Amino acid sequence: DGSVSKPHVAFLASPGMGHITPLFELALRIVNEHNFQVSFLVITTDATLAQHKYLHANPHPDLHIVDLPPADMSGLLFEDMTVVTRLSVIVQESIHPLRSVLSGLNRPKLKAFIIDIFCTGVSNACKDLSIPVYSFFTAPAALLAFSLYLPTLDREVEGEFVDLPEPVKIPGCKQIRTQDLMDQVRNRKIDEYKWYLLHVSRLSMSTGIFVNTWDDLEPVWLKALKYEQFFLDIPTPPVYPVGPLTKGSEPVSNGNEKDIMAWLDIQPKDSVLLVSLGSGGTLTSVQLTELALGLELSQQRFILVVRTPSDSAFAAFFTTGFDSDEPIAYLPDGFVERTKEVGLVVSSWAPQVAVLNHRSTGAFLSHCGWNSTLESVKHGVPIIGLPLYAEQRMNAKMLSDEIGVAVTMPVVGEGGETVVVGRKEIERVVRMVMEGEEGKKVKSRAKELETSARKTLSCGGSSYETLARVAELLRRES
Ligand code: UDP
Repeated sequence: DGSVSKPHVAFLASPGMGHITPLFELALRIVNEHNFQVSFLVITTDATLAQHKYLHANPHPDLHIVDLPPADMSGLLFEDMTVVTRLSVIVQESIHPLRSVLSGLNRPKLKAFIIDIFCTGVSNACKDLSIPVYSFFTAPAALLAFSLYLPTLDREVEGEFVDLPEPVKIPGCKQIRTQDLMDQVRNRKIDEYKWYLLHVSRLSMSTGIFVNTWDDLEPVWLKALKYEQFFLDIPTPPVYPVGPLTKGSEPVSNGNEKDIMAWLDIQPKDSVLLVSLGSGGTLTSVQLTELALGLELSQQRFILVVRTPSDSAFAAFFTTGFDSDEPIAYLPDGFVERTKEVGLVVSSWAPQVAVLNHRSTGAFLSHCGWNSTLESVKHGVPIIGLPLYAEQRMNAKMLSDEIGVAVTMPVVGEGGETVVVGRKEIERVVRMVMEGEEGKKVKSRAKELETSARKTLSCGGSSYETLARVAELLRRES
């Protein structure tokens, strides 16, 4: 079938749909558009339901899914572990058999091993086998610039970054306000910071860095990454913007999903607000109540995807993402009944891309996870930002102030603490985006970006050509 001679690359993604999806979409492109064969390594965890469905939806003869044997995590994971620490420990334990797995796959010889940034522990095995490692940074170029600069900041700054009197200035880039800094760097004494620093320090050792963005979306940051020598004494590998890589519209399979789409079919064009907080996001009970009542006050049509409230903003990240509780048990009394003419409440999970792709969807209230962001702009849907964890505050700020495609809720207090956004404020912002002048602005910007996204990924577009160039480089790799 010709695949013997097709150039071969392997991928490894850390757990979480937010990491697996962009890497898998890159794998699909390399296979379909550049005639490669791919071995896609998967770490199996409890949270594999949505993951399994996605990875196995469209089997392809040149794309082999390889499940790594489940690792023994007993005694290693604790309830209070935060996202990066937990991911890093899971990956560290899961890659023990990597050397033998890769040796087994190394025929024809692997041209590259493409990993996300929480998998940087693979480097020794790859060095021994002489396989070049490429990183795929699945967050914005803005965060990539900050992350490449972090080892320098770590050396030069004493005390906490969040206590700096001025915003963080990365040479050649825009400033980042200290209150918008990602969670992982807000306390330098904890494991979460140490793991993040370790991973980003190893980033600069990769042969190249793919990033899920494109020139028109983040022009200043990408220019700096290309031309500025701001990473000081660390040699920075070439950065390849190949985005926006997002999953295609998934087949709507179960009854619940069909009901959502059928409901959308009978709503007016651009009239529905999708409310969803990613694969792992959860709200506190107080915030969920305010959000629900704010939506009700706004009198707009909505799809509200909800999970059982929690004091941790990422409570569902390492679970299957599916709740057993019925939303009626934790939403405000009578809310579901009072809003049933205009709203649809969905427990845990919705076919997000299909909803964003539907003509009735007019805006997206999102936690601003980077995949959700790209899916929204790719479908011309403006965003209302309700950032929760990781780098989402930074994303939300950039989407509203720099890119102009979002309006962000005031979730950050004076001292950088998270504050509850009240129902009145929710009502105001939702109305503003769904029916106000500001809404027209963000909507028209979203439409511009939709066109730009299509162009950049088509033959002759910047992301398409960048990937074609890397594919050519890899093909020639001996
Ligand atoms: N997602 C989905 N349905 C949901 C919630 C999330 O399909 O109800 C998908 C979403 O389309 C996106 C991914 O899960 O591809 C979430 O990634 P993102 O980077 O936005 O956030 P994370 O989950 O990593 O916080």
